[in-house]
Amino acid sequence: MADFDVDLFVIGAGSGGVRAARVASSYGARVMVAEEYRVGGTCVIRGCVPKKLLVYASRFAGEFEDAAGYGWTVGKPTFSWPTLIANKDREIARLEAAYTATLERFKVELVKSRAVLEDAHTVHLMATGKRVKAKNILIATGGWPHMGPNIPGLEHVISSNEAFDLPELPKRIVIQGGGYIAVEFACVFAGLGSDVTLVYRGENILRGFDDDVREHLRNEMRLRGITVACGHTVTAVDKAGDELVVHLSDASKISADKVMFAIGRRPNVMGLGLDKLGCKIHEHGGIEVDANSRTSIPHIYAVGDVTNRVNLTPVAIREGHAFADNVFGGKRVSVDHSNVPTAVFSEPEVGVIGLTEAQARETLDVVDVYKTTFRPMKATLAGRQTRTFMKLLVDGTTDRVVGCHIVGPEAGELIQVVGIAVQMKATKADFDATMAVHPTAAEELVTMREKAVSYSRAAAE
Ligand SMILES: Cc1cc2nc3c(=O)[nH]c(=O)nc-3n(C[C@H](O)[C@H](O)[C@H](O)COP(=O)(O)OP(=O)(O)OC[C@H]3O[C@@H](n4cnc5c(N)ncnc54)[C@H](O)[C@@H]3O)c2cc1C
Repeated sequence: MADFDVDLFVIGAGSGGVRAARVASSYGARVMVAEEYRVGGTCVIRGCVPKKLLVYASRFAGEFEDAAGYGWTVGKPTFSWPTLIANKDREIARLEAAYTATLERFKVELVKSRAVLEDAHTVHLMATGKRVKAKNILIATGGWPHMGPNIPGLEHVISSNEAFDLPELPKRIVIQGGGYIAVEFACVFAGLGSDVTLVYRGENILRGFDDDVREHLRNEMRLRGITVACGHTVTAVDKAGDELVVHLSDASKISADKVMFAIGRRPNVMGLGLDKLGCKIHEHGGIEVDANSRTSIPHIYAVGDVTNRVNLTPVAIREGHAFADNVFGGKRVSVDHSNVPTAVFSEPEVGVIGLTEAQARETLDVVDVYKTTFRPMKATLAGRQTRTFMKLLVDGTTDRVVGCHIVGPEAGELIQVVGIAVQMKATKADFDATMAVHPTAAEELVTMREKAVSYSRAAAE
């Protein structure tokens, strides 16, 4: 048998890679990890964490406004973008150090280098030229912003990567995209005082989400002064002095200080040496893997965004953990990619789990829909025009709750808890039997009694 330097080589110290490395090491494996940028990966360095910090910052403006209705006199608040970014950077550096310390504590060897595959057991470290023989290899290289076709002026356009480090807050920003990253940044910049235009080619934002959620959030964003321009694309960006002129597909123009594209992310598969090995790439662009995250090459595995399954941090972590349990811990663990609760940290937030109404109608014989919209209590004295939306989708045959969709304050926190019930296959009767907590918004989830509508396949045929 060949002599290996390590039992496991992990490429990428992001959410999935770090978890897999430390769990494998805890089972006694000799593990090395290569990271070409910063330990922690997208989530910690330029994704979930800095994004949420910016979201918090952006919400103070509304709080200051709302305070007046509750008797407070707030002087004219001022905001410093450089302070926010410097504080955010300090927190990110702290987290990066904590991740690095965890790897050290678990005796994982960290190499700061780009790594590429030379053959099925050899990793080439670009920083040193060193070659490492590995018994198993895990690819956890994540994804990267996709900037779309090479339109004129694309060099003036930033992605979410740069948005976290702008030297100043743009007075006017055009964001192209309709997914959660575009929507979240639109709400962040609007909350901080920028004039925001969201341009999206489809007919409504948040494709793939429940249609009622999409409609509700779009209206709420408009109420907060965001221009949501659906059915358009950016065709060119001109630089005129300090200003950018954004050309849209309907020949209209918008002046802006910054233009950001958040139109999707691509798995980081390029230049890894996968083609040379004949490692199969799925038609959606991610590395093809089986249910155990094994690629088409024996002893090479892949987890997280590079596999383009469900591109979220908790999923990458779960996949990395399961890989290590299975390959080094002698366990048989599988990752369930259904019923993944998820949030959009827009203003107001979105929290969803399970089927959309369209999916439920497509897959179930009988679908009962419960929904409600109401003015959240806090908005009354504040005088704020906003409404919360909640929807439960119930399998009319089994009474199981198969979908829950919330747009409103703390929807991300709420959906984490509803997720437990849905995961446990709770029925609508279980929801109804749960005592309400009053006065809360969440009590609506256990007090919706009237079906808004019920669809029956048999009745339709
Ligand atoms: C703006 C933004 C906001 C997000 N918000 C959320 C959110 O709120 N909630 C959520 O769950 N998810 C969110 N995500 C998604 C989340 O960040 C990813 O799903 C998660 O980070 C994927 O983890 P990963 O381990 O697959 O890859 P990553 O965390 O991306 O890690 C991959 C690492 O590999 C390194 N690397 C790549 N190639 C090589 C190489 N050849 N050699 C060495 N190192 C290499 C990279 O530098 C990177 O550090 C967000 C993403 C973005 C961009």
